[in-house]
Amino acid sequence: MNRILIVEDEEAIADLEKDYLELSGFKVEVANDGEAGLLKALTEDYNLVILDLMLPGVDGFEICRKVRDEKNTPIIMVSAKKDDIDKIRGLGLGADDYITKPFSPSELVARVKAHLARYERLIGSTVEENKVIEIRGLKIDTTARRVWVNDEEKTFTTKEFDLLTFLASHPNHVYTKDELFSEIWDMESIGDIATVTVHIKKIREKVEFDTSKPQYIETIWGVGYRFKM
Ligand code: CA
Repeated sequence: MNRILIVEDEEAIADLEKDYLELSGFKVEVANDGEAGLLKALTEDYNLVILDLMLPGVDGFEICRKVRDEKNTPIIMVSAKKDDIDKIRGLGLGADDYITKPFSPSELVARVKAHLARYERLIGSTVEENKVIEIRGLKIDTTARRVWVNDEEKTFTTKEFDLLTFLASHPNHVYTKDELFSEIWDMESIGDIATVTVHIKKIREKVEFDTSKPQYIETIWGVGYRFKM
């Protein structure tokens, strides 16, 4: 469940915000002064902070700055004056949104939901899963650059790995040795298409059960190679 911190010294406003957010299914905590709010925001994990600007003790500007130094928690700043919003923007404190009093509780809830959804998308995109190709007992983790054959990990040189991954990423596509050479080796590389043949041989020794009857990389006589799907 999403946890939200409200830092607000006017208890009636804090209660109203809390009620509406709880009705929407959020777990809400309230801090009634700046010091308590800053401490909670820094030491506990919240999914979002609703931060009033004018607070006794430490004000919203300072809380926002200090939280931003350490955390990415979305912050919605609340102010009684429209002018303050320009000031907050000008200071570049890193708040995610601004709302002026008086506001309708449903507008606040809508903004909270929008920011939580946006933040989750952001987090989600950074922990994207590794891209893995799996074909008949051959498993290639193209992100971690690791290869397993029937659950046994095999080590590959950089070019062997690149060549195997390129072919496996384009199954059933026949490539000439020239095409493979220009795809995997840069133009300054010393070598020729014989390099491709040597690398294919090395890869087969690692992935094939019987190199005379390759089940992954097939030789197309007079043309080149293809990865069998
Ligand atoms: Ca206030």
